[in-house]
Amino acid sequence: MATEYGVFNDEGLVEDHLWSLGEAEAAAAQHRAQGDEFAEAREICPDHEGQPKDGCEACEDEESSDEQGDEDEDSWHIAA
Ligand SMILES: [Zn+2]
Repeated sequence: MATEYGVFNDEGLVEDHLWSLGEAEAAAAQHRAQGDEFAEAREICPDHEGQPKDGCEACEDEESSDEQGDEDEDSWHIAA
């Protein structure tokens, strides 16, 4: 699967379907030139559209809910 890049600002994804980092950085520079000072090129999460790969909230949610499930099971066994 090809790595996809996008342009993100402080509110989230502003441009996607960029297939090289150079292309994404050029697009981010264009957004900054238009006054979007937070625009930056980032790699998009391969599992979640519209999320940056680093710090993807959907991935973090999945990880923490998995941990929660294990804890519940353990405490049920201890209680029984
Ligand atoms: Zn993700």
